[in-house]
Amino acid sequence: MLRIECPCCGPRDHDEFRYGGDASVTRPAYDDPDFEAWYRYVFVRENPAGLHREYWQHVVGCRQWLVVERDTRSHTIASIRFARETRA
Ligand SMILES: [Zn+2]
Repeated sequence: MLRIECPCCGPRDHDEFRYGGDASVTRPAYDDPDFEAWYRYVFVRENPAGLHREYWQHVVGCRQWLVVERDTRSHTIASIRFARETRA
């Protein structure tokens, strides 16, 4: 069982969260005509053995979106931040 420490609610089981995908992927500009950039954004993902940045939403709690940095080999969580704080 993965335990995620929500900054609002404290430590909770991962069943309370919804996985939201790879947080390291950057969306192209809406009017970017580069087909290859859109293809990579929609379909191409890394499958790292190690630290991975992921979006998780606390759907059963505060409903906040989080960026969780998790080691995919051990499920150890290195950091958790609000997603709104990570956007440029
Ligand atoms: Zn929460």
